[in-house]
Amino acid sequence: MPKKYHIHPKVMPLDLDYVSKFKVERGENCINCGKCTKVCIYEAHKRGQIDPRKMAEPNTVVCRNCFRCIQECPRGALEKSLGKDFLNIGGHYWHPDMFITLWKQAEDGKVPVTGAGYRGPFTGTGFDSMWTDMSEIVRPTRDGIHGREYISTSVELGRKLNHLVFDADGRLLSKIHDTVDLPIPIIFDIPADNLSPNVAVSLAKAAAKINTCIIMPVADITADFKTLIKSIIPCLSHKDIDQHEAILKKAQLVAIEYTDELLNDLPAVKEKIKKIGKALTIIRVPAVPDVETTVSKLAHSGAEIIHVVADYCGMEVNGPTSSNRRLMKDIIRAVHLRLVEDRIRDEVTLIFSGGIAMAEHVPKAMLCGADLTAIDMPLLIALGARLYEEPEKLLILPEGLEKIPLRVVIQRIINLMGAWHSQLLEVMGAMGIREARRLRGETGRAIFFDDIDNETFGKLFKKEKQ
Ligand code: SF4
Ligand code: SF4
Repeated sequence: MPKKYHIHPKVMPLDLDYVSKFKVERGENCINCGKCTKVCIYEAHKRGQIDPRKMAEPNTVVCRNCFRCIQECPRGALEKSLGKDFLNIGGHYWHPDMFITLWKQAEDGKVPVTGAGYRGPFTGTGFDSMWTDMSEIVRPTRDGIHGREYISTSVELGRKLNHLVFDADGRLLSKIHDTVDLPIPIIFDIPADNLSPNVAVSLAKAAAKINTCIIMPVADITADFKTLIKSIIPCLSHKDIDQHEAILKKAQLVAIEYTDELLNDLPAVKEKIKKIGKALTIIRVPAVPDVETTVSKLAHSGAEIIHVVADYCGMEVNGPTSSNRRLMKDIIRAVHLRLVEDRIRDEVTLIFSGGIAMAEHVPKAMLCGADLTAIDMPLLIALGARLYEEPEKLLILPEGLEKIPLRVVIQRIINLMGAWHSQLLEVMGAMGIREARRLRGETGRAIFFDDIDNETFGKLFKKEKQ
């Protein structure tokens, strides 16, 4: 049995002014009896470090809203109130709750739970309009995902053969293509262009520690990244390949920005990269309307890995109006199904990014047809960044981020990925799927709200699909 892949989390708080849904406040009438330190299993209440006779400020970031401390305080000294900034952060896609979840995941690397249950709606747009079929969760013989059962989250990037050809003596004639294995179906995409070198190096180090990769503009790959090059995917225009031979020689994956011109030159470009080193080529395509046609042409021209990039809310770019733009779930399904129709799907690796905001978006994207996903914004949110969508996108990096020790930044990213990996294992275990690659395109194991809505009420309200 192969060694289990595990990401090791470690509690790593950041001294930041987080936004909280509720704020736990301790009133003047507190008698410092310490009962709240015992009743809060999440350790939101601690005694002061300088003077342990007095209680420290409650750490609201780790609070799971169970209200136990409020009920059990003998003096009624604790209060919970709605955080002032909570409703302003994020917007229509990046809901305020997502920030709190990502902050907690980066803080302790655990799958978040809430003590107050879920009171929100059970459907929404995009990934929120699909559910995974977790019927295997009730299988009585199941011995748990952390027990003897082995669940593999690894994925393979590269061109695969549709079929094998043998000669009359049974010798294999087909040439097996090179592939790159990653133990988790997530790579990083550099999340902003104004990152300090320290933060960029920390992200690359975190990627290396968990054996995944990070896509970075080739111009940003300075000498500081020398030892990390195997975990970095240099991104460049096909016209700049000659200038960056030294970097491409050591890389195992190279990302080339799509242009119409590239489509005609693709075999020559791939050949050129192969001659420099051993890197496999990823073609990075913006998720414009009808991107499936471009992806299909690329696949037929020999592209081995195609990365479709949507906007930060997982929407098509350059769409006519925001209300008409497709969301990531529908973009992935359209691209996947086009390649299935073309009978070429199994030969190509598809990566999707943009709007992958929560752990559950990874298996959902894979069920829609992705081989793996790339994440960007959650990396910054893990480091305390705030994003506001209205009236226009505004990303605020925490003050002093560039001075935070590298080990803190690295561990918070590792924690985030540890929590996402655990959640992926939970979903796969509950679905009875033992290999992440088997999730790909398994729409039969997902439930889509639009489909059941149409089946149930379509005839009644004439909503049937044409
Ligand atoms: S239980 Fe109440 S009185 Fe006791 S330390 Fe906590 S807040 Fe203060
Ligand atoms: S509400 Fe629950 S989780 Fe939050 S601080 Fe109180 S006891 Fe801890």
